[in-house]
Amino acid sequence: MNAEKWGASGLYQAMCKSVDGYVVICDCQKENYKVTLPKDFIEEFELPQEYETKYFELWVSRIHPEDKERYISSLKCVFENKTQQFVLQYRVKNRNENWVWLESRAYLSYDENQNPDMFAGVIRNLGRQNQLDHITGLLNKYAFRETAKQKIKEKIPFGVLLFNIDDFHHINELYDQTFGDNVLRTLGTYIQSRVDGNASVYRLDGDEFGVLIMNPQENEAEHLFERVSNHYRTQKELQGKRYYCTFSATYHEYEEGTSYEDFVKALKVGINVVKRQGKNRLINFNSEFLRYKERELELIELLRNSIEHDFEGFELNFQPQVYADTKTLKGAEALLRWHCEKYGKVSPVEFVPLLEKTDMIQSVGKWVFQQAVEMCKRWVCLYPQFSMSINVSYLQLFDPTFVNFMQTCVEEAGIDYQNIIVEITESKFISDKELLKRVFDSVRSMGMKIAMDDFGTGYSSLGLLKEAPADIVKIDKIFVRNIKENSFDSSFIRVVVELCHKVGIKVCLEGVEEDEEMNVVSEMDLDFIQGYLYGKPEGAEKFYQLYLKTEGV
Ligand code: C2E
Ligand code: CA
Ligand code: CA
Repeated sequence: MNAEKWGASGLYQAMCKSVDGYVVICDCQKENYKVTLPKDFIEEFELPQEYETKYFELWVSRIHPEDKERYISSLKCVFENKTQQFVLQYRVKNRNENWVWLESRAYLSYDENQNPDMFAGVIRNLGRQNQLDHITGLLNKYAFRETAKQKIKEKIPFGVLLFNIDDFHHINELYDQTFGDNVLRTLGTYIQSRVDGNASVYRLDGDEFGVLIMNPQENEAEHLFERVSNHYRTQKELQGKRYYCTFSATYHEYEEGTSYEDFVKALKVGINVVKRQGKNRLINFNSEFLRYKERELELIELLRNSIEHDFEGFELNFQPQVYADTKTLKGAEALLRWHCEKYGKVSPVEFVPLLEKTDMIQSVGKWVFQQAVEMCKRWVCLYPQFSMSINVSYLQLFDPTFVNFMQTCVEEAGIDYQNIIVEITESKFISDKELLKRVFDSVRSMGMKIAMDDFGTGYSSLGLLKEAPADIVKIDKIFVRNIKENSFDSSFIRVVVELCHKVGIKVCLEGVEEDEEMNVVSEMDLDFIQGYLYGKPEGAEKFYQLYLKTEGV
């Protein structure tokens, strides 16, 4: 750049005129840091033209008390050489004593002796209130909506990269919410430091971040996703605690003619697809996602049809559960299967949520319970200590007749309540803790046991256990997947076992597939194991042939 030719001042004036925001330059070579500011900025915030002393103190005194600390510590980060980039949104009082949202983006350069040379950047007036997320300091979902709608109106091409932290609950669970907040804050800052000027970062919901990219370049979103997920590939340490996280992400470019609502809906569908396909990846939006919506509607009709035809197409499979120490048979989990002519076998991961969504889970759930109890009756004759674990969706607990129904089933079969374990799968947050406790109490008072399923994912948590105690906790299989490499997963299992044993709760680990995984978990004092290593789900006859004819695994 031939800056000398036009003179620094001419260049500065030209930039001030062409940049959307106030251009600020701070000459750090001067003893007291000489700051150059545009005239209208000086007027708006009542600052002296060229301030040689105490500029910083004066500016900070105008910053909102809630934002002051963030501002100072972010600036410190830059001058203590941790990062060269300064990006922050904060409130400042203007000359009319109104709070104004500003965004500063600046860069610190060094001279040849590695001393700070120039700190320069742009301050933008965001002109928004109540649009900041207080945990991360990023703009929130309201700001996102406003900006996206504005871009749609102005016909400016944009795309949105949606990031969702996989199983963020593990982090909250292992440590606490405050620590979780710090993780969110660090991640927000990291993403923000990685985006260019044509993109802005928003915290949309709990563990969800959105990056709105204007005039996106080819592969821009992919590169950003790679940078962030590579950075988090290794374990991170914060306040002396270690954590690890992966991300599910989807990228979608806005197409003219789509409404804002439909665009956002498509993003949400995208994230759901990623979660179903195993998380930890970026999937670009495509119209297949919407076809999947059609499939869903069709499946609902086919399921309804099956129920009306005496549960045609439904069947139970059984997977063995073994004692962790002796590896002998403890019982089985009854797992629902469904097939139809058009789609063949459909996974319960797909159809159970559809049953739940439509309330068909009530009738199917009762059918499952009755069938499983019947099977249990036959197998208990051969193997008296046999226990049958039956999945019950939390939605079934809202049916006031369900507890009586379970009682009648067991009574009629004439088996001991002790042989039945009710596994509560919690796919949505249970706000009615009272109800949960009441149902748990009555189920346990009959003598059946309660297992809390998929522990560590979704909403089941140690906190919930305190309110509605269970007899068994089933740790989800995702903790086994990387157990050989990932010390977070093994420490999670250890902590859960230790805490549960203290209050007399037994622990079952799900998803053990290999001998090597079993070797790692064998020292963890678990009570029961369920996994492909000891058997896959099988039809009733095969289960009998494999495990009961010979008594034991
Ligand atoms: P879940 O209750 O967590 O069931 C365990 C799932 O883990 C089963 O998948 C089982 O096949 C699988 N699994 C067990 N060991 C291993 C292993 O070593 N490796 C791997 N990769 N997977 C293993 P499935 O049968 O596909 O069931 C999926 C989910 O569907 C169940 O998860 C449960 O949430 C739901 N579900 C199944 N049957 C019923 C039911 O009768 N009622 C309700 N409400 N939900 C059900
Ligand atoms: Ca289960
Ligand atoms: Ca489970």
